[in-house]
Amino acid sequence: AKRHGINRLQCFTARLQTQLEKSIRLEKGLRRALEHNECELYLQPKWNLCDQKIIGFEALLRWLEDEGGVKRFISPTEFIPVAEKTGLIIPLGEWVIYQACKLLKAWEAQGISHYPIAINVSPLQLKSGNFGASLKAILDEEGIPAHLLEIELTEETLVDIYSEDDNALEELEQIRSTGARISIDDFGTGYSSLKYLKHFPSDYLKIDKSFVSVEGMDSLAEPAICRAIVTMAESLGMQVIAEGIETDKQLQALTAIKCSMGQGYLIAKPMPAEQALLFAQNHNGM
Ligand code: C2E
Ligand code: CA
Ligand code: CA
Ligand code: CA
Repeated sequence: AKRHGINRLQCFTARLQTQLEKSIRLEKGLRRALEHNECELYLQPKWNLCDQKIIGFEALLRWLEDEGGVKRFISPTEFIPVAEKTGLIIPLGEWVIYQACKLLKAWEAQGISHYPIAINVSPLQLKSGNFGASLKAILDEEGIPAHLLEIELTEETLVDIYSEDDNALEELEQIRSTGARISIDDFGTGYSSLKYLKHFPSDYLKIDKSFVSVEGMDSLAEPAICRAIVTMAESLGMQVIAEGIETDKQLQALTAIKCSMGQGYLIAKPMPAEQALLFAQNHNGM
């Protein structure tokens, strides 16, 4: 039995070791990626479920790791946690804002200024103490109308801030005072009381994709929950965006409950910015 225990311990230590090595490797790589511009913003279209038109995009970070000429994509679900643990999320987050503004500016130069870009912001960025100010600085510097940049904060982030009640709340007010819109991301997964909602006047609620699609299922995963969220958002004066729409059935069910906007593989996956813009222009018949 003792022998067994030692084996298990060895096994456990080895696993820990591998995890540690992986996270150190990721951290190193991420630092290099930031220096060498190995990151890219992919854009996923958001569309109006009634008239089917593309109304904007969500920016999703992609890291193309270059390991001695061998390139591979690393998923944000893998590297964002490492970036958060190491504080790299701060420069990375700034890069994301800059990059989104650059795109908006380039589009404006082509006479296209009706597609807002939403960026994902981590709680650490909000807690860093100058997010609102630096956001405003970048918007001013680049001359971007604030309504074209949307900020997605997960429900978990908002609850976190709400319960700590530190100056992150001020940060939020500052974001709003720039005129940037705020979305509550992954709504319904934060296991929270709904009390915080009235303290954070936001513009959009995003129904988490787990309520919309489940692998191997065509129909809407949780119709009752989706309906409840739409009703609640309506009474709070917010608009709803459903994430993860993959099938026609889901689209129809969402339209039937008057969910007004959506994202998902049914219309398009996240793709490089140029391609995304072309897609939107073609799709909208412009
Ligand atoms: P999220 O903000 O909830 O983004 C939605 C995720 O769902 C994206 O995964 C997107 O590619 C995926 N998705 C979109 N449509 C569908 C669909 O129809 N079906 C399915 N199954 N999935 C769909 P992705 O790009 O891997 O990003 C994962 C998460 O990483 C994001 O979740 C967000 O929390 C985080 N993330 C991505 N970019 C950034 C960033 O620039 N900053 C921060 N702080 N986090 C980011
Ligand atoms: Ca998001
Ligand atoms: Ca989400
Ligand atoms: Ca998510």
